[in-house]
Amino acid sequence: MRGKRQEISCSFCGRSNSEALVLVAGLNAHICEVCVEQAQEIVAEELYGGAMPAQDKPGAAAARHEFKLPRNITPRQIKEHLDKYVIGQNAAKKVLSVAVYNHYKRLNHPPTSEDEVQIEKSNIMLVGRTGTGKTLLAKTIAKFLDVPFAIVDATVFTEAGYVGEDVESILSRLLQVCDFDVAAAERGIVYIDEMDKVARKSDNPSITRDVSGEGVQQAMLKMLEGTEVMVPPQGGRKHPEQKLVKVNTQNILFICGGAFDGIEKIIARRMNTKVIGFNNGEQEKIDEENLLQYVTHKDIRRYGMIPELIGRLPVVSYLRPLDLEAMKRILVEPHNSLLKQYQHLFRLEGINLIFEDDVIDYIAQTALDYELGARGLRSICEAIMTDAMFDLPGKKEVKHFTVDAEYAKSKLGGGMLDRLKAAA
Ligand code: ADP
Repeated sequence: MRGKRQEISCSFCGRSNSEALVLVAGLNAHICEVCVEQAQEIVAEELYGGAMPAQDKPGAAAARHEFKLPRNITPRQIKEHLDKYVIGQNAAKKVLSVAVYNHYKRLNHPPTSEDEVQIEKSNIMLVGRTGTGKTLLAKTIAKFLDVPFAIVDATVFTEAGYVGEDVESILSRLLQVCDFDVAAAERGIVYIDEMDKVARKSDNPSITRDVSGEGVQQAMLKMLEGTEVMVPPQGGRKHPEQKLVKVNTQNILFICGGAFDGIEKIIARRMNTKVIGFNNGEQEKIDEENLLQYVTHKDIRRYGMIPELIGRLPVVSYLRPLDLEAMKRILVEPHNSLLKQYQHLFRLEGINLIFEDDVIDYIAQTALDYELGARGLRSICEAIMTDAMFDLPGKKEVKHFTVDAEYAKSKLGGGMLDRLKAAA
């Protein structure tokens, strides 16, 4: 039941209808959402000695205003966790582990006086081609920490007043994933994808307004740094009647990612070399194949990100393009790798599913040849496995099923791969 009249207020704390998000009406009283939460804590204290019963919703730990970051955990252990799910990308993993570790250290040790050293927020920028694991890294870390996690796409935002979503709705997604628990959201992680798409079109500030680019970057500044933002809980502008929710972004970790197509040229220019044909025996040998590893804030600025925004993303790292070896490992190694998932499905049917080595080579090579990336591995596998998944359930006599390259090729004929490429 929701209170409607203007003059009603929470009978416990006195917050009025306009201050409270929700006022639940009883016989002769009302209670607001904050008091409900407090009452829940009192109940937990009385019934469970302070420990809340286990909740498995994302962000449950943050909802209890604490962190699951286990005591004594080290950045090395965070990286070891990432290793279970993400193949390669050691540089990004290391940087991310340290940044996240420091971020949560900062949260758990707020300065007690004005004079104390304040640890600044370490928002992160990840540069790397699409499908190399940027989102996966951010997602895996959020899951490990048991904090709310939202993925948003920078391209849907425009500066206030233009068609598109306002940047505030970045936080709407975060609120939605933790059931509008503001305290949980305020300690969450947001991954902003396609940051490169809001780059200014040229290095010079343009005379005409750059609606999709610079304006969005400007609008993001305060949010990344830490401020109180009035967030439309349902997002967008479709619900003008919705009550805005105040969210403090001080402790929200922002991880931004982008492919930054062509940034290698900027890096090469800065390093006084050319992408192709560099050879200067005098200097330290530069790995021309992978110039991204030398990316700096300067290059990102040249690419069109405004200096103020770069200043709020102090940690920069890169992801390597995935080669054949990496693709093969992605199929097999991660904790919940694609092939392990199929084997599990078949095991539930009582069938031992075997993938021959040659099919692993074939799938990985096909994904590379057709430029389908790591995302394409799934569609290739689905195309190979669909018939078997259709035919075998219920066939009690089948106990083993082997997939080799020949079988895979037979399932990918008839222009299937071209269709997959067109759909990618
Ligand atoms: P990005 O954000 O860089 O565009 P994603 O992280 O969304 O790419 O990757 C897409 C999918 O490809 C992931 O969900 C995962 O299945 C697979 N993938 C990509 N890179 C890796 C990696 N380094 N290790 C394991 N899986 C990966």
